Amino acid sequence: MALIDGTKISLQILTDLKLIIDKYNLDLKLTVILIGNNSASLSYVKMKASDAKDIGINVEIIHKDEDVQEHEIVEIIKKNNIDPSVNGILLQLPIPTHLNSTYLLNLIDPLKDVDGLSHVNIGKLYSQYKGLKPCTPSGCLFLLKKYSIPLAGKKAVVIGRSNLVGRPMAALLEQEDATVTICHSKTKNLKEICLEADIIIAAAGSPYLIKDDMVTVDATVIDVGINFINGKLLGDVDFNKVQPIVKYISPVPGGVGPMTRAMLMKNIIHAYSLQNNPKILRENIFKNAND
Ligand code: NAP
Repeated sequence: MALIDGTKISLQILTDLKLIIDKYNLDLKLTVILIGNNSASLSYVKMKASDAKDIGINVEIIHKDEDVQEHEIVEIIKKNNIDPSVNGILLQLPIPTHLNSTYLLNLIDPLKDVDGLSHVNIGKLYSQYKGLKPCTPSGCLFLLKKYSIPLAGKKAVVIGRSNLVGRPMAALLEQEDATVTICHSKTKNLKEICLEADIIIAAAGSPYLIKDDMVTVDATVIDVGINFINGKLLGDVDFNKVQPIVKYISPVPGGVGPMTRAMLMKNIIHAYSLQNNPKILRENIFKNAND
């Protein structure tokens, strides 16, 4: 078994991105809109801001109360859309249920939509047109490529069909010529489907979902899940039992999480280049990843 080290790879990416920022003397800014006091969201935003600052990206966090009115968020998004100093706008999810996340995500200028969740960027992803791609699936694909895990002609199983992770992940793998099966809560025979897989992407949010009798010695397992059990962070994979069997596995923590943040940083530079200077897109960092 080989461990897929997302922490190490993400640090390499951040170093490469800082070199690009320094080389082109980029003045970049990310605006994060944070609503309420969800402890996970507070912690994610803190880590994103820290990564950004480390590589020289300015961050403004606009923190609103849980009961904020939708029109206030609309105004913030519109103001940032037309502010030329802002390269990326991120609406931290989840947001309170009285707000319409689809409406708000689609108000963000697609060229500043660094989470890649607007309909325009989702459409570009599916039609293989250059756009901003969702960070978590991009991070998973980056890991697979970095570890030279063959994708073309391989059987990939994606567990989860959310717009955030599962669906775009399946699209990215299909675009790499994998044969992709998408599983969800109504899927029958998940075990048998996984036993056929060369690559398993577990993104269900269900701890211990992937067990040792569901994997083969040739399998690569990428664990996207984030679950807290008795205060402990766990993925979707029964790591201790699955790890000795499979060929490659990404741990939780230290796998996909840091890669998601690194892909966000990459998207901010990508957004800048789409807004201003396409030359930056030709940098090696983009050639070597999945852009
Ligand atoms: P989500 O919107 O809740 O979607 C979960 C998906 O998994 C749904 O499609 C659901 O099926 C499916 N599912 C749930 N239980 C299942 C089961 N027992 N068997 C098969 N499929 C099952 O969640 P998400 O936003 O996609 O996130 C998925 C997980 O990844 C969560 O744990 C989340 O915290 C984590 N995550 C991690 C990162 C990171 O950076 N590491 C980023 C984003 C998300 P139905 O469609 O039928 O309901």
